[in-house]
Amino acid sequence: MSRSTNRTLTCPCGEVFTSEIYEYVNVAKDPQLQYTVLAGLLNVSTCPSCGRRAAIARPFIYSDPAITCSPTFTRAMMCLKRSAADPG
Ligand SMILES: [Zn+2]
Repeated sequence: MSRSTNRTLTCPCGEVFTSEIYEYVNVAKDPQLQYTVLAGLLNVSTCPSCGRRAAIARPFIYSDPAITCSPTFTRAMMCLKRSAADPG
């Protein structure tokens, strides 16, 4: 099971809103999150008032048995599918 918390964010426009911030992502349990992570959209909040996007600078743990990467995953890191890097 993935783990997330609700954080209160303040947009530069003055809007205060809450957003779900993931601390731990297990794509074996929550496969729909894989695309979000790999697209760099996890922990990116959109202000409901002005639409501004803000990336939350919070590292999270990414758990996927099919992907080789560092346990502490940041949005800038690239991960390779094991099947692509090491066929067989
Ligand atoms: Zn805003």
